[in-house]
Amino acid sequence: MKANTNNKQNLVSETNQQRSVSSVVNAKTTTEGEGFVVHRAFPNETVREFDPFLLVDEMGPFAVSSGEAKGAPDHPHRGFETVTYMIEGVFEHKDSQGNSGILKSGDVQWMTAGSGVIHSEMPEKEFSKRGGTLHGFQLWVNLPRKDKMMNPRYQDVPSNKIPTVEDNGVKVKIIAGEAMGKQAVIDTRTPIMYLHYTIQPGAKTVQKVPKNYNVFAYVIDGNGLFGQEQKSVYKEQSVFFEKDGNEVQIEASKNSDSPLQVLLIAGVPLEEPVARYGPFVMNTEGEIKQAILDYNNGKMGKIDF
Ligand code: FE
Repeated sequence: MKANTNNKQNLVSETNQQRSVSSVVNAKTTTEGEGFVVHRAFPNETVREFDPFLLVDEMGPFAVSSGEAKGAPDHPHRGFETVTYMIEGVFEHKDSQGNSGILKSGDVQWMTAGSGVIHSEMPEKEFSKRGGTLHGFQLWVNLPRKDKMMNPRYQDVPSNKIPTVEDNGVKVKIIAGEAMGKQAVIDTRTPIMYLHYTIQPGAKTVQKVPKNYNVFAYVIDGNGLFGQEQKSVYKEQSVFFEKDGNEVQIEASKNSDSPLQVLLIAGVPLEEPVARYGPFVMNTEGEIKQAILDYNNGKMGKIDF
């Protein structure tokens, strides 16, 4: 009898329920660093953050004429992670711990700032000289209280090491989490899903997402129908989902000229207080004051190479 009861519970918990859409929000065009153009999905007036995510910037796409490429010179971070995903162009990063690296088209850098680093994010020199198109994403992932002061760490993952699956007009690049039976190589501090879907017009996908995750998607190109109510979402819009199911449906519009390019990002909310000041994200105002002091006293180091 007991076994039967368990079986019933399993059946109930495995019932698939599509999530519905809670809102669709336009990205805001703004400038960052030395003045490069970004489409900021959030924060904005409507969405301050989307626990555990703090910011999503689409850098470009924009044409860089030779010698004119702008970037983000030396600046600090503490208390969260920055995830850079290059779609096109070449970026170079350097930091106060002596690390440096080059990010090319399709590469990902998952940087855990933890207790603090100073880094620079600039278009790579040769690329700047010759010019070209720059296009990429930066996502800020909050760290739980227990990890905010951890030692900084990097995961630099070249494009060819990132699992990709293609089936029936749907391609997915698995930066974090799991999709279409494959697991990402990047390790995250809390459960995170970061997927880049390319869906041919008329094709669709259903992505499993645990019920406790917050889920949103950002449309890079094309347009599609999202969620239970098949809401239309267009380029440079974010769609936020309700927490009312264990799967998310995305369909590329049949009448679109280009495939639907979309980032599907999800994670378990931290549900901790957020104190935020520019490049520092902590739990209390006191910790923010300490971060500013530590930065001003040179405790986050400097880039000297
Ligand atoms: Fe940065």
